[in-house]
Amino acid sequence: MSRFLEGVGASAGRALGPVRWIDWDIPLVPHRTIRPEEVEDEVERFGQARAHALEYVGHLQAETTRRIGTFEGKVFESQAMMIEDPDVVQGTLRYIRDNYICAERAFEWQVMEMRIRMQEAAHAMLVDRLADLHDVRVRVLSHLLGHSDPSDLVVEGEEPSVLVGAELPPSMAARLDPEHILAVVLSGGSRGAHGVILARALGIPVVLAVGSQLQSIEQDSRLLVDGRTGEIRVNPSPQEVEGFHRAVAQASHRREMLQKLAGRPTETVDGVHTTVQANLDLPHEVQEAVRLGADGVGLFRSEFLVIGRREVPDEEDQYNAYRTVLEAFPGREVTLRTFDIGGDKFPLFLALPPEDNPYLGWRAIRICLDMPDLFVNQLRAAARAAEAGNLRLLIPFVTTVDELKRTRDLLMEVYASLGMVDGGTRIPLGLMVETPAAVETLDLFAPYVDFVSLGTNDLTQYVLAVDRGNAKLSKLYDPLHPALVRMYRRVAEQSARHSIDLSVCGELAGDPIGVAVLLGLGYRKFSVALTGLPEIREIIRHVSTKDLKRLVGQLDRAESGEDIRGPVRSYLADRGALAEQASVGLSEE
Ligand code: PEP
Ligand code: MG
Repeated sequence: MSRFLEGVGASAGRALGPVRWIDWDIPLVPHRTIRPEEVEDEVERFGQARAHALEYVGHLQAETTRRIGTFEGKVFESQAMMIEDPDVVQGTLRYIRDNYICAERAFEWQVMEMRIRMQEAAHAMLVDRLADLHDVRVRVLSHLLGHSDPSDLVVEGEEPSVLVGAELPPSMAARLDPEHILAVVLSGGSRGAHGVILARALGIPVVLAVGSQLQSIEQDSRLLVDGRTGEIRVNPSPQEVEGFHRAVAQASHRREMLQKLAGRPTETVDGVHTTVQANLDLPHEVQEAVRLGADGVGLFRSEFLVIGRREVPDEEDQYNAYRTVLEAFPGREVTLRTFDIGGDKFPLFLALPPEDNPYLGWRAIRICLDMPDLFVNQLRAAARAAEAGNLRLLIPFVTTVDELKRTRDLLMEVYASLGMVDGGTRIPLGLMVETPAAVETLDLFAPYVDFVSLGTNDLTQYVLAVDRGNAKLSKLYDPLHPALVRMYRRVAEQSARHSIDLSVCGELAGDPIGVAVLLGLGYRKFSVALTGLPEIREIIRHVSTKDLKRLVGQLDRAESGEDIRGPVRSYLADRGALAEQASVGLSEE
């Protein structure tokens, strides 16, 4: 019988296929003591296994760089660092030399100690890196025990399937073939984990944080997966399968049709022009944004350039990445968000104490202002790249006017150091409205900002007190909760009053009902994930802003998100705008 499971959508797209469990278990390591005269041989074997693992990781980095991009290849740097970790290496050698333990057992103990240290730290960055440690552990042990490399398993031909497991090791992710692996479903994981970043870059749908329910999936099950909503149907009924195939056929037909319209402006039926830009995580995605006819970039999440990096990123590397995106969109806006690190996204070069509430902790602009070297490096790279196009800088997680003023001051210093002084700010500076403080005091920010961008993802978690990454709370995480819709209205009104350019880059803009509500509230500029971009443009072309203004105006007394969603969904259905969504059937129970 068909069953429903839910996790967190981490890479959009839908898939149907048989389950294939990730076989990435730690090999059984027998306890073996050695004689004193065997010590140097064991030391030698350990050295060879490390050398092999380093070479393998180097090969994966080169291969990933070729297949996906330079920055994606760099995720393997942290594995190289673990293989060379002095504590692990010296500790293993000590066990071999002082306790006469064989190399595999000595290494296994050291890695277990490291794992316990990382788990005890309970720090988002370190917990993310557990999958890297697991990867290194399995690789070195397999070599020492004479087993074949387990990541070969996923490239061996079998029928196309949905990969299911606890975590997705980066070395496995890097070798995934989207023709064979239709989707990935994980009991754990996070959006910032290396394996997940790589799967997303390869365009493979991912649902994570499914939790212990994953164990209830039998070996021979088939799964229907939606990587946008995080919904999973186990052993779907014939009707659900038929609905899926119909939706996929319609989606591909629609995509072809929309592709032909890529160059056309996005206007509503009452002739209101809108701007639909792209959200990018990594620079190489810009080519797809251009192909889909995006009106520039409304959110370039620069932190994905540094997650998992063990060194502060080079100004030159950043300059090249920013320039690549700007050059792909000559004359169009490219909105670079300064590092939004912290929360669940930490680079390795920051040595951080664990935090009880990372989402309320040392994050984004707070880190950047506390680490001027890191921030100035980014601002310099951005200011230099700005020569190549129409760059805007967006500041995340702002709660005080002072943060924005200090950012402006730093930017002025950067202009001066680059000999770009002419008295005025060259790059438009924007405020990400994603905290209740920014909503409430938008008028106070007005003199210091050139534009604002509404971040519905974080605003939702901070207003509703619901952790955005907690699958258990996903029903409560509702960006159309009346409290939020009222705030969106106020942000639109305040921006108009102060003549500030306004856009939305949170996921709500990529949701058909969400974008309709936002249009009704007066929003005209949206930035959405690439997978949803053609669809959103098409929805906009089916609606009238006058109708939506009236409709949303009538919903002012709505008591729940569903009270808002229902009438707007009906309006879109009446207008024929929801053809594909209605037939997917994954979210309609
Ligand atoms: C947001 O918070 O709405 C947003 C777009 O930023 P991110 O999802 O990267 O936190
Ligand atoms: Mg945010």
